[in-house]
Amino acid sequence: MEPHISPTIEYGVYYPQDAQCQPMLAAAQMIRAVKQRGGKFIQGENVIAINSKNGQVTGLTTNKNAYASPIVLNATGTWAGDIAKLAGSYLPIAPRRGFILVTVPAPELIFHKVYDADYVANIASGEADLQSSAVVEGTASGTILIGASRERVGFKSEFEIPILRQLARQAISVFPILKEVQLLRAYRGFRPYAPDHLPVIGEDGNISGLWHAAGHEGAGIVLAPATAELITAEILGKTPFMDPTPFSPKRFMNQDPSAGVHVAS
Ligand SMILES: Cc1cc2nc3c(=O)[nH]c(=O)nc-3n(C[C@H](O)[C@H](O)[C@H](O)COP(=O)(O)OP(=O)(O)OC[C@H]3O[C@@H](n4cnc5c(N)ncnc54)[C@H](O)[C@@H]3O)c2cc1C
Repeated sequence: MEPHISPTIEYGVYYPQDAQCQPMLAAAQMIRAVKQRGGKFIQGENVIAINSKNGQVTGLTTNKNAYASPIVLNATGTWAGDIAKLAGSYLPIAPRRGFILVTVPAPELIFHKVYDADYVANIASGEADLQSSAVVEGTASGTILIGASRERVGFKSEFEIPILRQLARQAISVFPILKEVQLLRAYRGFRPYAPDHLPVIGEDGNISGLWHAAGHEGAGIVLAPATAELITAEILGKTPFMDPTPFSPKRFMNQDPSAGVHVAS
């Protein structure tokens, strides 16, 4: 299955249903689908106010326009807490920084997403300090993606060479052949982290008509279809395919730090 895996690795678990998706292509396809169905895609505008009257959303204002609507869906990922704040509400979503290394195309080397068992523990951890474990993934274009680091350092954007080195070292310990493969680039992003590790999907507890679909941390791509299905059913008042209660934004009501309760920084 993975001919180049280190002989020191004796056991593994295989997930036959595992799949891959290129998020940029998926996003472009979604925009096309919205337009084909008569929807409008507006870009280059920053939401600067959520408008409401008597606790009910009436629309939003951007730096360029104002839009009237009884429903606003906040799907701004890591920035969802800022939008909630604009509405006078509260969501404790914080950035969880991660770096990824990308190699030059090297097909026929890595055939699956292969990760160290520590990866699962790192995802579930509430620690703010750096955590990293080997995640090595061959892609359809031949490049190999190497991760994964997690740390809560706000929106600190600098590239940290020691972290990149650590990722490379860990990957080589799983696939020694990677020592021979050149790196093409590295990138970093900020995962939208909720302190209880669950996404925030549902109507705001303070402002009716304001809905949230955010806070998916490192699984926002894979969880996008299920999130869309759940929030659509909830907004339309239909029976959702699963119980949405654990994801409700209402779980954070009365947790505003200004009220003295500790939340993620
Ligand atoms: C290193 C790394 C590896 C990852 N690997 C995976 C993986 O393997 N699988 C997976 O499923 N997920 C992965 N993720 C997580 C995934 O990228 C996120 O969970 C996902 O992108 C969140 O999607 P979203 O639509 O909620 O938010 P985003 O994709 O962040 O989109 C939010 C949008 O809102 C916009 N916005 C913010 N504020 C405003 C405003 N005031 N006005 C207008 N627009 C605004 C932003 O510009 C942005 O375009 C990874 C993340 C990182 C950083």
